[in-house]
Amino acid sequence: MQFRDLQKQYQRLKKEIDQEIQQVLLAGNFISGKQVTELEEQLAEYVGVKHCITCANGTDALTLALMVWNIGRGDAVFVPDFTFFASGETPAYEGASPVFVDVEADTFNLSPASLEQAIMKVKEEGALIPRAIIAVDLFGLPANYPEIQKIADRYGLLILEDGAQGFGGRIGTQKACSFGDISTTSFFPAKPLGCYGDGGAIFTNNDEWAELLKSYRVHGKGADKYDNVRIGINSRLDTIQAAVLKVKLKAFQDYELTDVNKVAAKYTELLSEAHMDLVLPMIADGYYSSWAQYAIQLPERADRNGVQMCMKKAGIPTMVYYPKPMHRQKAFKETNSANVDCLIAEELCKKVLCLPIHPYLEEEECRRIVSALAASLKK
Ligand SMILES: *Cc1c(COP(=O)(O)O)cnc(C)c1O
Repeated sequence: MQFRDLQKQYQRLKKEIDQEIQQVLLAGNFISGKQVTELEEQLAEYVGVKHCITCANGTDALTLALMVWNIGRGDAVFVPDFTFFASGETPAYEGASPVFVDVEADTFNLSPASLEQAIMKVKEEGALIPRAIIAVDLFGLPANYPEIQKIADRYGLLILEDGAQGFGGRIGTQKACSFGDISTTSFFPAKPLGCYGDGGAIFTNNDEWAELLKSYRVHGKGADKYDNVRIGINSRLDTIQAAVLKVKLKAFQDYELTDVNKVAAKYTELLSEAHMDLVLPMIADGYYSSWAQYAIQLPERADRNGVQMCMKKAGIPTMVYYPKPMHRQKAFKETNSANVDCLIAEELCKKVLCLPIHPYLEEEECRRIVSALAASLKK
């Protein structure tokens, strides 16, 4: 069994994907082919945002957003303590100080109360200027934007939505990747919408920022690539990846997102019935997840390593996202983040376990996984 079965997806979409790739090979327009603009239009329409600017990966997408806002030395950027490294790495790379903020135990996402405390603390200390909040849609679930937006407005901060895992999620009818002043996503193969290599995208309603993003991603170009008006980077989405993504976006909209939600509902049903004393993922009213991960919390007494080994013997891969909170990463030793309490993130790092999930996981497989988990927990 695969943790995320990309082969099954390819078998289902093979004919169209092969055709699309072949068209790129025949046309030879490997960089900035027409498929890239077509995809950008489709993504912007799907998300409901004016501009979509694709780029080389989700990490660059965050970096480009921070470049546009001129965030750097002396600036504080608030980042959840429980996320993938890139959410904190990118502001640090720009010279800014990531300030790690605790998350909520039930949603895994940024805690609005802890966010406000952290902002007040930074303001009191006076060494850094609060500039932006990187809110992450962890495991497919949008962060609590209604509350985060109020805090951002109160303190005059920008919101950068890191939707690398969140594409396809929504609150009410509003889609993920439309909640930030700028929002980003990743097309890394294992993300909810993945390509066959690296890829990323940036979303915004702001015309001026959209123009800047298009310039920064091609060496700070002015009128053209050989007229350079600012220092930028080289970060484009390959035409082949755009061609693959066009096919996958259609499947994502037509049935994958619905199917992965059915798988999650089945897990929740089976795991609740099995009474294993687990904490199951919670989706608040009005929220919709794209289930980048199905993350459970094991009971205090459980030996997570043992459970993982036992499941592996039964042929079932599991993952620990994430084993270490951001503020404990060696790379962030020099930032001021270590004095911020992130007790929930610490707890989650000890208890969390992710089960295989993807739209092509069958009910029989879910049942096998749940039985294997029950057996592993008894040992
Ligand atoms: C995957 C991921 C990224 C980075 O995306 P890449 O395309 O791998 O660079 C950033 N933030 C989060 C939360 C992610 O999960």
